[in-house]
Amino acid sequence: MRLLYSLFCFAAILPAQTLHIYAIDVEGGKSTLYVSPSGESMLVDTGYAGNNNRDADRITAAAASAGVKQIDYLVVTHYHGDHAGGVPQLAAKVPIGRIYDHGDNFETSNKKTQAVFLPYTALREKYPHQTAKPGDIIPVRGLQVTIVASAGNSIAKPLPGAGQPNPKCATYQALPPDPGENARSIAMIIAFGKLRIADLGDLFWDNEYELACPVNKLGAVDLYMTTHHGTATSGSPQMVEALHPRVAIMNNGADKGGSIKAWTAIENSPGLEDLWQLHYSNEGAKDHNVNEKFIANPSTENDKGYSIEVLALPDGSFTVRNDRTQFEKTYRK
Ligand SMILES: [Zn+2]
Repeated sequence: MRLLYSLFCFAAILPAQTLHIYAIDVEGGKSTLYVSPSGESMLVDTGYAGNNNRDADRITAAAASAGVKQIDYLVVTHYHGDHAGGVPQLAAKVPIGRIYDHGDNFETSNKKTQAVFLPYTALREKYPHQTAKPGDIIPVRGLQVTIVASAGNSIAKPLPGAGQPNPKCATYQALPPDPGENARSIAMIIAFGKLRIADLGDLFWDNEYELACPVNKLGAVDLYMTTHHGTATSGSPQMVEALHPRVAIMNNGADKGGSIKAWTAIENSPGLEDLWQLHYSNEGAKDHNVNEKFIANPSTENDKGYSIEVLALPDGSFTVRNDRTQFEKTYRK
């Protein structure tokens, strides 16, 4: 009886230690679900509106698979349709605890952005809501979620343990800054035990420079959720090499992000073990896509919207899984 009891306890303890992450396929948008071992959940962005509830359905399926009945914390990184468009459809399906965003819309003269922002703001009034500032903590139990940039401002001082000079800054080549919403994205470092994750929204090259140069304010991470879908104006070598990720997951579409430039910066980053992609990139073609087993959705013709999942332990080891094939690979600390 005692043995049975111990076995039962062991089985109950193991899953309880796991952080579960779903990089949900919202067809070139962004939606990433983090489910802490505490049972609390944080969703970063909601994908697009429309498409017969496609993205809201995919998010609720991921939440159900993780055993969560509500989104405790919804982070809306910025007000573009591929990130905030799906909020009303999602809210109609799932209870949401608290919403974090960067505040006002910086593209009030852009009709497309306003068409996302206005219904979103009408909805957020019904929820507890907080405007995120650099240095704020999102209190997901079991995780340490630190906002490092929001509304175009970034942390003034390096995070604890970071702050090393970044030699890559010497070769930085500036690009024109983004005047709109991408540059105002909420960016986060998420820690779980010894595991660190960078999730920087759609920040641009120059915003990344502020975080990476002249000193690396963020420190190294294990997992890099690629910035701006792998678009060529984000994911600078200065930022990526400062993060020094072991694994990167790219939220690209077939024709959205997945640029040769950002892809190459990741592949060339010292210490990278694997890059995983949500889609095959048409721009990348034969030479700038990863092996098909690391791609969740390799074909646009038969796109079933597969996710990439991560199961992480507090010792810093984690397993990445392709939902299409169940192919998985474990990365030990
Ligand atoms: Zn985007």
